[in-house]
Amino acid sequence: MEKINTEHFKKKLLLEKAKLISELETISKVNPNNPEDWEPMSGEKDGSTADPNDSADSIEEYESNTALVSELEVELKEINAALGKIENDNYGVCEISGHQIETERLEANPAARTCKAHINE
Ligand SMILES: [Zn+2]
Repeated sequence: MEKINTEHFKKKLLLEKAKLISELETISKVNPNNPEDWEPMSGEKDGSTADPNDSADSIEEYESNTALVSELEVELKEINAALGKIENDNYGVCEISGHQIETERLEANPAARTCKAHINE
């Protein structure tokens, strides 16, 4: 099997990371005490609204922000983990079998932790 081009995947991961961070920045702010923790912002622009429908909307918006933030946070952690593996020279190794992960799988998901055989583990 040919050797994995880590430079190529590093570029992809960094690009993906920048995208995730700018997405996170629109709906959350980073916890000053923990740069890996993003705190969702409430949908409310000011607290003066008296319309109960408005505040129901912003609660809903806050909840969907919260879900999205945790989703993006997980993706960001995976990307950071993959970047860490590149630094440690063990990128592209299946965490289950220890085999090299298929290049096409890494193309589709550069942060993949497992080979195709262990995709659901
Ligand atoms: Zn495997």
